[in-house]
Amino acid sequence: MHIAFIGLGNMGAPMARNLLKAGHTLTVFDLNAATVASLCAEGAASADSARKAVAEADFVITMLPAAAHVRTAYLGEDGVLAGVRRGVPLVDSSTIDPATVRELATAAAAQGNALADAPVSGGTGGAQAGTLTFMVGATPALFEQVKPVLANMGRNLVHCGDTGTGQVAKICNNLILGISMIGVSEAMALGVRLGIDASVLAGIVNTSTGRCWSSDTYNPYPGVIETAPSSRGYTGGFGAELMLKDLGLAADAARSVKQPLFLGALAQQLYQAMSQAGDGQLDFSGVIRQYQPRTGA
Ligand code: NAD
Repeated sequence: MHIAFIGLGNMGAPMARNLLKAGHTLTVFDLNAATVASLCAEGAASADSARKAVAEADFVITMLPAAAHVRTAYLGEDGVLAGVRRGVPLVDSSTIDPATVRELATAAAAQGNALADAPVSGGTGGAQAGTLTFMVGATPALFEQVKPVLANMGRNLVHCGDTGTGQVAKICNNLILGISMIGVSEAMALGVRLGIDASVLAGIVNTSTGRCWSSDTYNPYPGVIETAPSSRGYTGGFGAELMLKDLGLAADAARSVKQPLFLGALAQQLYQAMSQAGDGQLDFSGVIRQYQPRTGA
């Protein structure tokens, strides 16, 4: 199949590579020439706008940072909707707000294209391994249509409901994740301060009722889990700025239905403080540093 892939960042580039490996013909577009060049060296063709990238495509995927970028990529003068052929399915895998997704889907439908939101979880490791979870908001017919292509990049393909519900699932999951990472950080920092070894404490938690992904797979205390970002200076992984963006999406969505988010709001402020301290590019598990005494203290 001829697929247009727009947005070749930390997630998009490895996802696009998996489509190439699966034998698809790819035309790619990104504002960053270096990442486009690296995909072209592996067999993709490139275009100098989203409009041109989608012109011959049978399927379109976008993987962009935030709603403003997605809006430009679809609705801009040189965007997807200006160039795509009628009937071609559109999939946006970026994490953005459900309202923008629904607005784009309406604009796409007006010219004969169905759009699905399909945000992912699994991080850059999952993107490379092709084991992402896709949370898909689409009609049942569109879900069936996009499934075979998404299966080249992910292992779990979940139909969440109508357009926008993929984003709802993603936002709610990351709300839990942002909060649970702070809970684990608070307890790990306290335990170590009170004299228990970090690995012993994590071992107890991970066989007790405090166990969660933030403790048993991605523990924020350095040295507890060798493969976690905490054991490599909080580099790689999922940046605090992206977590901050997702908690902002949760806050906006909650406001739209007048629901309070007590812990979500507090978590947002902790990641905001991390960002203000200049650590926004570090993995979000670096939030544990808020609890640790400064050097020399
Ligand atoms: P990234 O910043 O690494 O990559 C985004 C890419 O989009 C960049 O290469 C940028 O040049 C390109 N871009 C921006 N505007 C563009 C435009 N108008 N046209 C074409 N290209 C444009 O971001 P990422 O880490 O790949 O994340 C992408 C999305 O996936 C985000 O919404 C993020 O929240 C979500 N996500 C990220 C992770 C993760 O672990 N990094 C995990 C799950 C979901």
